[in-house]
Amino acid sequence: MLLITETFHSIQGEGVYSGIPMFFIRTNRCNLRCTWCDSTYSFYGGKEIPLAELYADVDNAKEEWVCFTGGEPLIQAEAYEFLEHMSGTGKKTLIETSGSIDIGKYSVLRNVYFDMDIKVPSSNEEGSFLEKNIKALKRDDYVKFVIKDQKDYDFARSKVSNLGNIEVVFQPCYGTSLKWLAESVLADGLNVRVMPQLHKLIWGEKRGV
Ligand code: SF4
Repeated sequence: MLLITETFHSIQGEGVYSGIPMFFIRTNRCNLRCTWCDSTYSFYGGKEIPLAELYADVDNAKEEWVCFTGGEPLIQAEAYEFLEHMSGTGKKTLIETSGSIDIGKYSVLRNVYFDMDIKVPSSNEEGSFLEKNIKALKRDDYVKFVIKDQKDYDFARSKVSNLGNIEVVFQPCYGTSLKWLAESVLADGLNVRVMPQLHKLIWGEKRGV
């Protein structure tokens, strides 16, 4: 069983795989409470769905990619069983995680990729990141900073040099200026990707997309 908020078909809106059609599985519940969370509806309620039913939904989906998101998907009791199955299906799975859960046992699975946050000061969850997760990331994974203000930007900039060759995404919080963020990155000569939340540009602040 996984406790699910909803499943839906959409375009990946965040990070390195932005723009790719994916089948989304939004799990329910999160261990964090970021101040600017845009999916607080996933904190409560939800519906328990047997893994077999989800596997059938994934099989029936036209998309090559599955996005395993939340909430925090890695707190689900059967997250490993689900991801182990996914690694053998031929589909690719992107895990969107807060960085606060040990990803070690998941990162060795084939066809499983990580969009891993490092929480910034404005989230009020700055101390939640597990540093050892950095070592578990592979070439096709990436780290994402969701940035609201100058203090967040300075925090993210201070972390970039410790991330080695890992891809880094700077994403403005919804309502924060993309232009300001882009110009800050250019001024500082940072080797990061500046990316908006594509799905919000397309559909606005809305559930199920
Ligand atoms: S980790 Fe994600 S789902 Fe959880 S509170 Fe933060 S933004 Fe919301």
